[in-house]
Amino acid sequence: MFDKEYDVIVVGAGHAGAEAAAAAANLGSKTLLVTMNLQTIGQMSCNPAMGGIAKGQIVREIDALGGYSGIISDKSAIQFKMLNKSKGPAMWSPRTQNDRMRFAEEWRLALERTPKVDFYQEMVSGLIIEGEKVCGVKTSLGIEIRSKSVVLTNGTFLNGLIHIGERQLGGGRAGEKAATGITEQLVDLGFESGRMKTGTPPRVDGRSLDYSKMIVQPGDEIPEKFSYTNTKALSHQRDCHMTHTSTLVHDLLREGFDRSPMFNGRIKSLGPRYCPSIEDKINRFADKDKHQLFVEPEGWDTVEVYVNGFSTSLPEDVQFKALRSVVGFENVKFFRPGYAIEYDYFPPTQLKHTLETKLINNLYFAGQINGTTGYEEAASQGLMAGINAHLKVKEESPLILNRDEAYIGVLIDDLITKGTEEPYRMFTSRAEYRTLLRQDNADIRLTPMGHKIGLASDSRLKRMEEKLKKSDAFVNFFRETSVVPEDINPILESVNSAPVKQSHKMFKSFSRPNVTMDHMRNLKSVADFIEKENIDGEVMEQTEIQVKYSGYIAKEKNNADKLQRLENIKIPENFDYRLLKSLSYEAREKLEAIRPVTISQASRISGVSPSDISVLLVFMGR
Ligand code: FAD
Repeated sequence: MFDKEYDVIVVGAGHAGAEAAAAAANLGSKTLLVTMNLQTIGQMSCNPAMGGIAKGQIVREIDALGGYSGIISDKSAIQFKMLNKSKGPAMWSPRTQNDRMRFAEEWRLALERTPKVDFYQEMVSGLIIEGEKVCGVKTSLGIEIRSKSVVLTNGTFLNGLIHIGERQLGGGRAGEKAATGITEQLVDLGFESGRMKTGTPPRVDGRSLDYSKMIVQPGDEIPEKFSYTNTKALSHQRDCHMTHTSTLVHDLLREGFDRSPMFNGRIKSLGPRYCPSIEDKINRFADKDKHQLFVEPEGWDTVEVYVNGFSTSLPEDVQFKALRSVVGFENVKFFRPGYAIEYDYFPPTQLKHTLETKLINNLYFAGQINGTTGYEEAASQGLMAGINAHLKVKEESPLILNRDEAYIGVLIDDLITKGTEEPYRMFTSRAEYRTLLRQDNADIRLTPMGHKIGLASDSRLKRMEEKLKKSDAFVNFFRETSVVPEDINPILESVNSAPVKQSHKMFKSFSRPNVTMDHMRNLKSVADFIEKENIDGEVMEQTEIQVKYSGYIAKEKNNADKLQRLENIKIPENFDYRLLKSLSYEAREKLEAIRPVTISQASRISGVSPSDISVLLVFMGR
């Protein structure tokens, strides 16, 4: 029934498992994907969206290395937005709204088209361990399948417990059973495990909503896409909508608090701080009289709608009554209620940078099992675990990404060095080198690495090299070509920048605030260069960023050096962290609770990022 021995067995076909299986197989490993339900490959458990702030950068990085998440997101997108476009390019973050069913279908088809992936539908209930090495898996029906390595990507399924009001039921996701056996065996082997919690909002019938009372949230006028390959940008898009809660809604929700598992002590584990439930929001931010709700279609054709911002585990009748008081939701009908889920995870400090466990050789963990939350975080770990499982089996050097090379490097380094006690999600603020880690240059940073190990195709590399060659040439053009005052002054005046008296290199004026490529290309010599060298929009964007942000990039490197030198500075005993408004909320809370004595001690606290340390240093005049 099975091959005598697989190179890699991947357990679970969520975002982590799907990427892990694809990567290992595309690199040449004989791979088996065992999952509890083959109909739910690539299932989006929560919101039907990919990317967003810092997560969009991760999707681009996965794509640049040769993973599938970007391509699948593009193929199933119903709306595209580049978030944070009004800020600097380090903050630009692509996000798609996706057709949930198509997303899962595209994943399944992509894996079916991957020759070295075998499939099997079963629950893995244990691992075959010989000495200190994993040698395969055991299923709940007692079947043993042997392999040289195993990647566990069990998501929210390990001893999953669903909460809706006073009701509790075992399950890994609504309608799916929990996975048992693995945690118990790993704990017996000496692993530490913990519990975490996450939640999801109700899904409703779009036909019962009054969209005329809500604010339309359209996609970008000129939509882009995730993948650096030749996937297509959307030619038309679906709108989302926005509405908000009110004090009446909050009062109705509060009526159910005594029956809430969040408040009556039934849920004991910590949930995602940045994705709180609606009851958590009205409790924690009691002074706020409304919270935004984004009303997101679940696909092109379905009438099912996702109510983003209304995640809840309150009793169904309370959810329903409160939601009916939201503007536009007066006649709402439920498809399914919101719920919370508690599940086992393994503190990721038990892993190496390759995501292999320190305790058992050739056993890898990726995704929510490591205490993260989010599809993108899971998918990127899956990709790295799949790559490294393959490389180890083939006795090749591992692929480890550094903090200045990729958000994926930051994610994994944070996880394994700092650990996490609450669901970890990526933010731009977690990356100290975020001016380097942009969404536009993920291919330049990572495709050569993906190609070197054999995952990114030749055509990907060629495309990236061409883009780099052209943008370097274009930057040099600006460095070397002079412009006379008569030509540049009208541009400078149009952006309220002081006119110049002498001719100078174009780079200098282009670097000034508010001067953009759109201005510069009005100059004849620039327009001629664009035409002669066949410069496209992507190269123009890359060039513009290289010219305008070269100073910031140098400053960032300098800052990193400073951080190293000033590690042992003392923090005054009664230091008031509330004075530092630019500290993240999480950092302030933790610093206040732990009160570190030195900056270096502060930097080791989970949730205090290197950029928080920069804020402290600046305040102390260093
Ligand atoms: P999953 O996507 O959970 O996939 C796990 C896979 O493993 C499944 O295919 C399952 O069938 C399979 N599996 C598990 N155990 C076994 C076994 N023993 N044998 C065989 N197969 C097995 N993320 C956010 O960013 N924001 C949110 O607000 C949010 N809310 C969520 C709410 C809910 C209710 C849930 C369930 C998840 C939520 N998430 C949220 C998390 C998001 O869904 C996950 O981060 C992401 O799906 C994790 O991917 P994964 O691959 O690690 O696991």
